[in-house]
Amino acid sequence: MQTTNSHTLFNQAKQYIPGGVNSPVRAFRAVGGNPLFIKSAKGAYLYDEDGNSYIELINSWGPMVLGHAHELIENAVKEAVSSSLSFGAPTRKEVEMAELIVSMVPSVEKVRMVNSGTEACMSAIRLARGYTGREKIIKFEGCYHGHGDSFLIAAGSGAITMGVPDSPGVTKGVANDTLTAPYNDLEAVQTLIEANPKNIAAIIIEPVAGNMGLVLPKNGFLEVLRDLCTQHGILLIFDEVMTGFRLAKGGVQERFDIMPDLTTLGKIIGGGMPVGAYGGKKEIMDFVSPAGPVYQAGTLSGNPIAMSAGLAMLRHLNTQPEVYSQLESIGGKLVAGFKENLKKLGLNYTINHIGSMFSIFFTDQEVYDFETAKSSDTVLFGKYFQAMLKRGVYLAPSQYESLFLSTALTDEHIEKIVHANYESLEEILVKA
Ligand SMILES: *Cc1c(COP(=O)(O)O)cnc(C)c1O
Repeated sequence: MQTTNSHTLFNQAKQYIPGGVNSPVRAFRAVGGNPLFIKSAKGAYLYDEDGNSYIELINSWGPMVLGHAHELIENAVKEAVSSSLSFGAPTRKEVEMAELIVSMVPSVEKVRMVNSGTEACMSAIRLARGYTGREKIIKFEGCYHGHGDSFLIAAGSGAITMGVPDSPGVTKGVANDTLTAPYNDLEAVQTLIEANPKNIAAIIIEPVAGNMGLVLPKNGFLEVLRDLCTQHGILLIFDEVMTGFRLAKGGVQERFDIMPDLTTLGKIIGGGMPVGAYGGKKEIMDFVSPAGPVYQAGTLSGNPIAMSAGLAMLRHLNTQPEVYSQLESIGGKLVAGFKENLKKLGLNYTINHIGSMFSIFFTDQEVYDFETAKSSDTVLFGKYFQAMLKRGVYLAPSQYESLFLSTALTDEHIEKIVHANYESLEEILVKA
């Protein structure tokens, strides 16, 4: 693996871009070494500026669920480009997009397009506050909902504390309005609700959490959350930016048959273009401006190129249900291979898995929330990451991320990845 050009570009980048990147995790700080600068990608492969190729297990953090540069999406974008890149006026494509989302995502009756997952989550929270006339929200420790101020809050050392800002620049006032509970901890949620009677606007959750590594909801957890919200007049928001159109056509809500009041979407919805959306019950969505009083706007929202890419992606997923059985099968084979490797090497690491998402945690402990995720040996993970990279497999550069599979992975790729996994584990254990 040669990285001369990436190295030079990174040094140049650091002069002009904070930390050399436009989004922090890209800098490889959690795994050491320098980031690879990517030149192009096709199907299951990523190509860097030094001419190396890698099998892709991130896929732009989810969106490239059909693999890179899929011709359906490429053609849709090419066709749209010649009609101008933006109008700032309504288009037919936005209507088609909204109709399609409503038909695919079970709880969504009306939807508003935005430009990122962050924007979707910020807007959904404002809407929940405007609709309920309440101020506080509950989020779960280890869940990521974009970089909006309200979401950059970690729990204190106790299970149930007032939010403490995770980042300078988030005011105490904002932090005080965000309450946090450990993932999968219903008792903590109940206590927060009782301590803040009629003042909680929304509970926002990744119904399958992918931002502390992959963490699944325990049996009954989401059902009881749903009941608690209904009982106390709280809006339940599913952040399906990661899981939407991935774990099923209609996301986790379809897969587990639990209906939130609002849903946030992103990643796959844009087919690789910057797109987000939030939607839900008509009655709530009609509170959004100009139908209602809650203001939310966007110069480039519903952008025709982004809509073209997203529409091509969603239409394909909607009409080709075999995509989902394919994703399940690819995920199943990879995880079976990894488990077999662990067994052969006498290791007891935890693998969390659902459909086309999984994480290997370098810990023997069961991982069901942020605390247990943190029992992982992140130094060992860093070595594993580098060992896999050396063998041509591109993983998420952090222990606290899920992997995202695409339908471009063939049995041959899977075999290569499983083999690389075995060799990498063996190598880092000898060194360790
Ligand atoms: C990626 C992500 C976001 C933020 O989306 P951006 O497009 O990066 O702003 C929000 N929620 C979840 C669950 C995500 O995975």
